[in-house]
Amino acid sequence: MERRVGRALVRPRVLIVGAGLAGLGAAQRLLRRGGRHLGGVRVLEATGRAGGRIRSGKLRGKVIEIGAHWIHGPSKENPVFQLASEHGLLDEAAMSEENQQVEIGGHPLGPSACFSSRGQLLSPDILDSMGLLFFALLEEAREFVHAAKVPVPSVGEYLKEAIARKVREWSDDEETKRLKLAVLNLFFKLECCVSGTHSLDLVALGPFGEYTMLPGLDCTFPNGYEGLIDCLMASLPKGTVQFDKPVKTVHWNSSCLEEAPAGRTFGVQVECEDGEKFFADHVIVTVPLGFLKEHGETFFNPPLPSRKVAAVEKLGFGTNNKIFVEFEQPFWEPDCQVVEVAWDGESPLAEPPADLEAIWYQKIAGFVVLHPAERYGHILCGFIAGKEAEFMETLTDAEVLSALTEVFRRATGNPQLAPPRSILRSKWYSEPYTKGSYSYVAVDSSGDDIDALAQPLHEGTSDSKPPQVLFAGEATHRTFYSTTHGALLSGWREADRLLDIYDMSESPHAAL
Ligand SMILES: Cc1cc2nc3c(=O)[nH]c(=O)nc-3n(C[C@H](O)[C@H](O)[C@H](O)COP(=O)(O)OP(=O)(O)OC[C@H]3O[C@@H](n4cnc5c(N)ncnc54)[C@H](O)[C@@H]3O)c2cc1C
Repeated sequence: MERRVGRALVRPRVLIVGAGLAGLGAAQRLLRRGGRHLGGVRVLEATGRAGGRIRSGKLRGKVIEIGAHWIHGPSKENPVFQLASEHGLLDEAAMSEENQQVEIGGHPLGPSACFSSRGQLLSPDILDSMGLLFFALLEEAREFVHAAKVPVPSVGEYLKEAIARKVREWSDDEETKRLKLAVLNLFFKLECCVSGTHSLDLVALGPFGEYTMLPGLDCTFPNGYEGLIDCLMASLPKGTVQFDKPVKTVHWNSSCLEEAPAGRTFGVQVECEDGEKFFADHVIVTVPLGFLKEHGETFFNPPLPSRKVAAVEKLGFGTNNKIFVEFEQPFWEPDCQVVEVAWDGESPLAEPPADLEAIWYQKIAGFVVLHPAERYGHILCGFIAGKEAEFMETLTDAEVLSALTEVFRRATGNPQLAPPRSILRSKWYSEPYTKGSYSYVAVDSSGDDIDALAQPLHEGTSDSKPPQVLFAGEATHRTFYSTTHGALLSGWREADRLLDIYDMSESPHAAL
């Protein structure tokens, strides 16, 4: 039923800022369930494409993921998995019951080749034992979620203190100890990529365990993650998404009269960089937290309330980049899933290097081998997080390629190793409408800040008035932040908020 506002029956008009998964998910749900009760749903997207941080590209004709890579926890509860399955976007193995039941808490690190920077292939034992130690300690770190007090503020400090205690018990020779610490440091770098942070010292210990992992062995989209975006776009009426429409300011909390022909008043006016203005009853803002950190002060008029400003400032948003390199011939074994380099002398217990620009490449956590080789040829995908990832974006392809060639030559001990034939990198920090990769709960923030970010803004100060500005996007999901399923669920959450207010669900049993 339409809501009576003043003396008129209103068919609410909804604007959505951002055509990532959160924005498209919200639009689809509103249109499917709100249908004829709505006075229009329009998505304004700053760039020329839909998908946001879901972006597939091609390297020598092979599909690669510049943004989201895996479906984390592909099982019944995961709406991205459900959608992808319904649209036939996954392969049989990913959809098998067996795959959905696996509980390993993240993606597996299958057989790997770990080299030392002195050119030796390390024994799998050292990698396995250090991996077991690291992941056991990480599990311990998650257990503080219900604790009244934390021993130290950050995950990094917790892990380092625990490792320092372990090291005192090691009876190995100095050389082995040194190697073990270098390998442990690799796991710190890997976890920086997972959390999208420069250092685990920035990740809050208390709330760390609130992030929830779903069952299922992480899987990929054989023809690209963007296929999911194509399906969502195809389901929307033509013209729903307007591209190249960067929003400059969201004006709210005042009545704006729309010009002819409607002549109706709206609570929200969205002003674009090109001067065009859009009027609506509600706006769902799905811009990334990185964008809000940079533009939050001027993006809303009147400005955000202080609780929200604090949440934007305190929550973490870091960079995780990918570097794809393609080789004519592999230097790894056919079953190898990850190639890693443990840098001699590195240790989580040592101070991080001061001159990160000179040795930025040492921050690379590892290179995932794209499988199967019949589909991809010989492509490695390196992951790098933090300030080094941001610095890498300032270099040319040739500079990055040359640095990596040197790394592979040192690691394999083969100075003649042929350089990769081609390279493609993500540059998420330089993307003006993203400014990084994804969110994390930083020291001095908590899940309450995520909830504060997700809180809608109501007209006036009264929550009894309908919400005018609503917030979605991965950073607004308390337990699934940083993921595609968190983004999609957040879009659905805000669509449902509006549908409930107007009591306008036409087809509550529809899939979306
Ligand atoms: C390198 C990388 C790897 C990742 N790997 C995974 C993974 O393996 N699995 C996983 O689940 N997740 C992964 N993620 C995270 C996942 O991609 C995101 O959580 C998710 O796609 C975010 O969706 P969203 O809709 O919240 O935001 P976005 O996709 O960022 O969409 C927001 C949209 O808003 C637009 N916008 C911004 N400012 C404006 C403005 N002023 N006006 C109009 N439009 C604007 C942007 O252009 C963008 O299209 C990864 C992300 C990155 C970067």
